[in-house]
Amino acid sequence: MDNTEYLRPSNLKELGQIMAGHKNRATVIAGGTNLIPQMRNGGKSPELIVDIGDIQDFSFIMEDDGFISIGAATTIAEIASSDIVSTFSPILASSARELGNPLIRNRATIGGNLANASPCADTALPLLALDAVIRILSPGDKTRNVVLNNFFHGYRFTDLGKGEIITRIIFPKPDDETTGSQIKIGLRNAAAISVASIAVMLTMEGKICRKARIAAGSVAPIPMRVSRVEQLLENQEISATLLEQCKAIMKKEISPISDIRGSAEYRSYVTAVILERNIQRALS
Ligand SMILES: Cc1cc2nc3c(=O)[nH]c(=O)nc-3n(C[C@H](O)[C@H](O)[C@H](O)COP(=O)(O)OP(=O)(O)OC[C@H]3O[C@@H](n4cnc5c(N)ncnc54)[C@H](O)[C@@H]3O)c2cc1C
Repeated sequence: MDNTEYLRPSNLKELGQIMAGHKNRATVIAGGTNLIPQMRNGGKSPELIVDIGDIQDFSFIMEDDGFISIGAATTIAEIASSDIVSTFSPILASSARELGNPLIRNRATIGGNLANASPCADTALPLLALDAVIRILSPGDKTRNVVLNNFFHGYRFTDLGKGEIITRIIFPKPDDETTGSQIKIGLRNAAAISVASIAVMLTMEGKICRKARIAAGSVAPIPMRVSRVEQLLENQEISATLLEQCKAIMKKEISPISDIRGSAEYRSYVTAVILERNIQRALS
């Protein structure tokens, strides 16, 4: 860590210049709640750390023209206490309230949670279920949008190229017919890493489910959408029989591992249980 260079640009122009000149050796830091523990635990120290914490353009929560936009360096605490987030995406608000502990939430950012790409990243699931898109700034001041569902390529491996930075996360404001629910199972009620998590968004027309979005965490190498379960639900009346079929398909689609937090068998079982519970909650 001693040889690591540290830069803290104060605006987008300075950041652009740094990333253009150092894209091959720069590592972005936001809250540092993943990066610093990784470095302390023997991970490779970056040559150059670029701290985006002073860049005001990356810190906001905004409702505009049918969309919610959240700056990448917005903290999890800010998201947890945002009226906009609670009103239009309660599943994101509740996942933020359940992430880590108050000290972590005060520093951790939404962009860092996604870029770190852990299978248990708490904000990834509601954002997948909300059809979120992330905006990425590339060296040379180009921007591109990536659908979050295409962002996670493999275990801790994302669509981000060298020198690229997530600038904001955008998702459509759900309409009045759309409701959601999310459940995180941890080994305790607070300050727990997820053992299994599900987020659900359902658009209903009377008793018929017109659109379903199901995201699962901690049960595959990436936070994942479970499209076969979505397809099973869409254009159907949700009955007890259909829920049993969804649970069976869910178990086939996930690939949980056993680790210190739970066995693969337990994860598989509990994921099916919280899928059903989430759908029932969303419908009620
Ligand atoms: C005690 C503890 C408890 C935790 N509990 C949870 C939990 O319950 N749930 C959970 O999901 N996570 C948890 N975490 C992990 C961590 O807090 C979150 O993942 C957090 O959101 C990371 O954000 P950060 O800003 O601190 O990321 P950083 O550590 O700053 O960065 C993480 C990674 O993302 C990259 N990065 C950061 N911002 C950007 C950006 N804008 N563009 C491109 N790349 C970027 C960095 O280069 C780095 O590789 C916990 C961590 C600790 C230490």
